[in-house]
Amino acid sequence: MPLLETSAALTQLPLVTLYLSERCNSRCVTCDYWRFGKQDVTVEAVRGLLPALRQLQTEVVLLSGGEPLLHPQWAEIAALLRGQHIGRWLLSSGLSLAKHARRVSELIDIVTVSLDGTNAATYERIRGLDAFDKVCEGITALADIGVAVTVRVTLQRANFEELPRFVSLARELGARQVSFLAVDVGNPHAFARRDALPLATALGPGQVGQLSEQVEQLIASCAEDFASGFIAESPRRLRHIVAYFRALCGGGAFPPVRCNAPEFSGVIDAHGALHPCFFIKGPGGRSAVPDLRAALEDRQYRQLRSEIRAGARPECATCVCSMWHEGGPVLAVPGRPGRPQHA
Ligand code: SF4
Ligand code: SF4
Repeated sequence: MPLLETSAALTQLPLVTLYLSERCNSRCVTCDYWRFGKQDVTVEAVRGLLPALRQLQTEVVLLSGGEPLLHPQWAEIAALLRGQHIGRWLLSSGLSLAKHARRVSELIDIVTVSLDGTNAATYERIRGLDAFDKVCEGITALADIGVAVTVRVTLQRANFEELPRFVSLARELGARQVSFLAVDVGNPHAFARRDALPLATALGPGQVGQLSEQVEQLIASCAEDFASGFIAESPRRLRHIVAYFRALCGGGAFPPVRCNAPEFSGVIDAHGALHPCFFIKGPGGRSAVPDLRAALEDRQYRQLRSEIRAGARPECATCVCSMWHEGGPVLAVPGRPGRPQHA
């Protein structure tokens, strides 16, 4: 590969994903965090990060993991960010949301809950727990007290036939938006996977045709939901998911990916390491805590961003969560323009 020009260091980082904990209370079949995760970020580490977040004009911190609500001091961390006028976006399994609803409503701007089934059996098959009702209860508890809560669905073999039902269920639960991703089956870094990749969760060739029909029916019957943003993805993006599954079956090329996530965001894990996105491991080198700016300036990190920008990373070719953002706020009321779009 020809030598690439090293990217300049970033001077702004509007979106930072921060893993509060590697531990998780879910048992997803596609993930190993719940098996091996131990580390929590410390409150002191987050406090130390605040000056860099200010200097980098960070608008939003996405609190993720693992399950962030397992961190015994998650509220203290959220309050620290609120004190800096940094938006708080929580990505949660939803299992303890009902318990924390009041505190979440005080400290979090938007909550995204992973809900991979529309009934108890599908939910348990994918998430490993009999907890469908508990998660739904958490979503409605938040919606009832006015929290902006959105539902995220990872489409896969066990749930793709429920595609239209996810839209109606999200509405019944009071969510403001439902979004869809394809299951990732190729990336060991994402989800801390140590064992075999979960290839069996992808759709088979016959199922891809079924999903394609479902998607076209949804596009035809839910025009208002696409227009309002209640369904977060565009029709083009849903067809992209079909093309991704078709490519996994050998039925064509992977759909083109457009992504500038590493140019406007970064992922800091519970150990303080910086990564350019969820799927690509950072170079190690300098810790992002407390000096996030130094980690961004690190030569290896800039080189990695150059490779990504040049399309030289294999992870990007099969990515299920590419993002594109061209300025404007990175967090807005769901359904309105301004958030990074899956590209
Ligand atoms: S995918 Fe997310 S919710 Fe599921 S076990 Fe992994 S970290 Fe937990
Ligand atoms: S396309 Fe995916 S893997 Fe590549 S930089 Fe974007 S988020 Fe990361």
